[in-house]
Amino acid sequence: MLIAMTDHSITSVPQERRLVTEIPGPLSLELQARRTAAVSSAVGGTLAAYITAAGGGILVDVDGNHLIDLGAGIAVVNVGNSAPRVVDAVSEQVAAFTHTCFMVTPYEGYVAVCEELNRLTPGNYAKKSALFNSGAEAVENAIKIARAHTGRQMVVVFEHAYHGRTNLTMAMTAKNMPYKNSFGPFAPEIYRLPMSYPFHDGGRKGPEVALDVISRIDKELGAQNVAAIVIEPIQGEGGFIVPAPGFLGALREFATDNGIVFVADEIQTGFCRTGDWFACDDEGIVPDLMTTAKGIAGGLPLAAVTGRADIMDSAHVGGLGGTYGGNPLACAAALAAIETMTELDLTAAARRIESIMRTRLEAIAAATGVIGDIRGRGAMMAAEIVKPNSSTADPDLTSRVAKACHAQGVVVLTAGTYGNVIRLLPPLVIGDDLLNEGLDVLEAAFIAELAL
Ligand SMILES: *Cc1c(COP(=O)(O)O)cnc(C)c1O
Repeated sequence: MLIAMTDHSITSVPQERRLVTEIPGPLSLELQARRTAAVSSAVGGTLAAYITAAGGGILVDVDGNHLIDLGAGIAVVNVGNSAPRVVDAVSEQVAAFTHTCFMVTPYEGYVAVCEELNRLTPGNYAKKSALFNSGAEAVENAIKIARAHTGRQMVVVFEHAYHGRTNLTMAMTAKNMPYKNSFGPFAPEIYRLPMSYPFHDGGRKGPEVALDVISRIDKELGAQNVAAIVIEPIQGEGGFIVPAPGFLGALREFATDNGIVFVADEIQTGFCRTGDWFACDDEGIVPDLMTTAKGIAGGLPLAAVTGRADIMDSAHVGGLGGTYGGNPLACAAALAAIETMTELDLTAAARRIESIMRTRLEAIAAATGVIGDIRGRGAMMAAEIVKPNSSTADPDLTSRVAKACHAQGVVVLTAGTYGNVIRLLPPLVIGDDLLNEGLDVLEAAFIAELAL
């Protein structure tokens, strides 16, 4: 039972870690055996604890263990699992109607979500949006729109980029394993150029790296052939790589000067995650198009492309859409999630979470010598794990530390081209004590794995 429907920060799930069996416990192991028999082994898995309830910063598994959630379902439940406003809005909507297809007979929720996106995203110009089901689908549609608008085909993407698992977005994603291996041929006209990665490029200044990118576009592609530059303002799966200041701005300016559509993929960084509504806000970057998904709807599947009205209107009528895009339940959830973000001031919460996580990660780095770089912004922080006092990746230690956290009931995720990044993405409604307890476990895992 919910403690109080009027206090929208409250969940009925007790906010404490509690281990009553090994993790995964016997009931989870039974389900895992069923999964192994029934589910394609190609679908990946991080931690085989089967969840029955969740709220705030806690996941409850079938064996009764309470796990601390430092992953938020990969930056999705920014407002927490089953956030009260989301539950209310979706319950009301599911009883009213579940689907009409917006392209057949429309409904207000879709329009209202587009209005909110147009209002919240950066840019003081007339904006429009279109809704889809997944992040990859949003990225695909941003490319369709940019090509229709420019009459050009080439798309520039970056080293370490992640944009999804469909054919076009696999081509745009950098990493072969596990995303691309054996799945080709890939969509053509995708060109990958260097990313500003301060820890590995000797701290080169952002504008300097951008000049290299620009020179390569000019020499190898011809700016007049490029439809879009697509970039994550902070890379997600690539390992929370924050480009040096000025990198994004220089590319933005180059795009403007050359009629190239600048697309910010904010699927992981959006919706208060980085301490702003969007990661672009930090440096005042104004994209032409933005893709969003993950954090948008409190866990329901929804994605969007938002941007300049003239660009968004360039494709022919009927050229964009999909059966389920902007499903009424997902739209109701998004409106409630956005209300919750505003009401609970989740941008401020993300900044507070950053200060806690940064302090704790710095202490672990000082005590162990195996954290080469601490980076990220807001409630999106990562530690790059290296051989002691070097910049050489240590993916083995990274995976051992993550597994040790899982065994102690703390869900952490890994990332990075070299598999050596631990990334922390707690729900923005997590309490400070619970967050600190999760970080205690992370610290203890490092100490135990290094036998310090
Ligand atoms: C997760 C992600 C995607 C893909 O989203 P899906 O909903 O999994 O298709 C695309 N871009 C970025 C930056 C992401 O983090």
